[in-house]
Amino acid sequence: MFIPNLLLSLTLLNFLPNIDQSHCNDSRGRRLEQPSYLTKDVKVIYNVRTRDKVAFITIDDGVYVSDSLAKFIDDNQLPITTFALAGELWRNRDWFTQRTNMTFENHTNTHAHMTLVKPKQQGYEICRASQVIRNVTGERPVFFRPPGGSWNEEVRASVGQAGIKYIAMWNVQVDKGKILNRGRNSLSPGDIVLLHYTHGLERDLKVLLTKMKQDGLEPALLRDYLK
Ligand SMILES: [Zn+2]
Repeated sequence: MFIPNLLLSLTLLNFLPNIDQSHCNDSRGRRLEQPSYLTKDVKVIYNVRTRDKVAFITIDDGVYVSDSLAKFIDDNQLPITTFALAGELWRNRDWFTQRTNMTFENHTNTHAHMTLVKPKQQGYEICRASQVIRNVTGERPVFFRPPGGSWNEEVRASVGQAGIKYIAMWNVQVDKGKILNRGRNSLSPGDIVLLHYTHGLERDLKVLLTKMKQDGLEPALLRDYLK
């Protein structure tokens, strides 16, 4: 049976996670031209230092999206930094690419707990996800968010080798209609807020936007502040 090379290499990438992925390849196995960063140059950020009255809406995983959510995001012209898993970004690619003020960042291929896997597998998780982001959006991710927020120096090194300069953590979370703000009463300029693409996302966004308005903050894109 004839198998096109492209299909074959995609299949190999999907089913041979132990191949050397200390650098990133495209779907034909060619090395991608991109910078790599030394471990010490990979910054881990929990918030952004700025005097601008902005906070950053970041939404993870990408499992559930809907027309109603799209309308809410579009009507409010919300700038959103999305950390979708590669498979979810691909599955919902039409929905995601129709949003005009959204950027797509790296949250691994399979939601692997990065500190529990070997560097080779870490590299694969990051590179594979970057490839999918490039295929879907035409752009390279600038930020990496480790699933469960789990990172260490080894993960940091893998992130740098894969050509990503920032590990983007968060200092505020909104979940099930509640703002988890580490004991603080108000939001501050530069806060990075974590949400998830769940059935409750629209409600969580409404709760967050009400609070941001109270505290005099506008939503902004991470990429407009860090490159
Ligand atoms: Zn996640």
